[in-house]
Amino acid sequence: MIDRIVNTGIDEVEAEVEQELENTLRPKDFENYIGQDRLKQNLQLAIEAAKKRGEPLDHILLYGPPGLGKTTMASVIAHEMGSQIRITSGPAVERAGDLASLLTNLQDGDILFIDEIHRLHRTVEEVLYSAMEDFKLDIMIGKGPSARSLRLDLPKFTIIGATTRAGALSAPLRDRFGMIHRLEFYNHDQIGQIIERAADILNVKIHPEAATELAKRSRLTPRIANRLLKRVRDFADVNGDGIIDTSISKQALILLDVDDLGLDPADRILLMAIIENYKGGPVGVETIAALTAEERTTIEDFIEPYLMQIGLLERTPRGRKVTHKAYKHLNRTPEPSQDSLL
Ligand code: ADP
Repeated sequence: MIDRIVNTGIDEVEAEVEQELENTLRPKDFENYIGQDRLKQNLQLAIEAAKKRGEPLDHILLYGPPGLGKTTMASVIAHEMGSQIRITSGPAVERAGDLASLLTNLQDGDILFIDEIHRLHRTVEEVLYSAMEDFKLDIMIGKGPSARSLRLDLPKFTIIGATTRAGALSAPLRDRFGMIHRLEFYNHDQIGQIIERAADILNVKIHPEAATELAKRSRLTPRIANRLLKRVRDFADVNGDGIIDTSISKQALILLDVDDLGLDPADRILLMAIIENYKGGPVGVETIAALTAEERTTIEDFIEPYLMQIGLLERTPRGRKVTHKAYKHLNRTPEPSQDSLL
């Protein structure tokens, strides 16, 4: 995958620096967690009720595009519950034994956060069913005719699963979550607040108009907002006196090739590919992947959700279709057939 400033994932080279930045900027409690109000209200209620009853929190599934704050929310929940949190991810738990050792090391009330839970191996997932349902661990000891199964009691823990694609979860796993919540894209105002909060923590001086400008180009996503702020700060340090004003932020964004809707070259290539090869669509996602040399999952998880959110792309039963708004944004005239289609 190409390195994109608006990339919502984290590539390996930058992973460590990014991780450090993310941890510094991660809000610790509900008060500092901006937006997602409905989700916060629901969780606050559940947390209060669980505390009153002296029980662990129900298992929670958080889903939505990357960078919207699922991991952050999991640590906020742990903080509010006064619990410890262990963090792992679907692909990291390779064998049932790995899960068994994670679970048996938990204590009552602990939270186990599983990122990318849709990527858990089937065999691991099956062990999770009874663990989630009745805090029991079924394991097989030995092999062949002497193999026997053993049932262990587990502490009363809470699983918080995160996924970019709730649809990719198997039904039995999905059914074991007591709460399933979708994280929404933020609005410009909320992203503006997130940028100002991050600037405060990082000791960056940014004019309010520049913060608004950055907010408009952050794909309504906190991770991108923080990342843009960091890159623009670098630009301000090198090309100015370190203060981010509108002129500095505009120049930096031109250099980063992020346009006024927050689109980067990969977004524009995708839209143009549909326009030029398929008169704006509809066209299947596999074809788009082949045309743009992007992975299908990259398109589905990273690129499309935002393009759809801001109304540049539509999903139809026959594939993806570019909208009039996208034509206008790219300074192209819609094909005559488009008028009847949209
Ligand atoms: P996800 O797990 O959904 O990919 P993260 O929880 O890792 O996203 O969030 C990415 C970064 O965005 C975090 O490091 C945090 O600094 C910031 N962030 C996310 N949500 C919020 C929020 N509601 N308020 C402030 N900052 C946020």
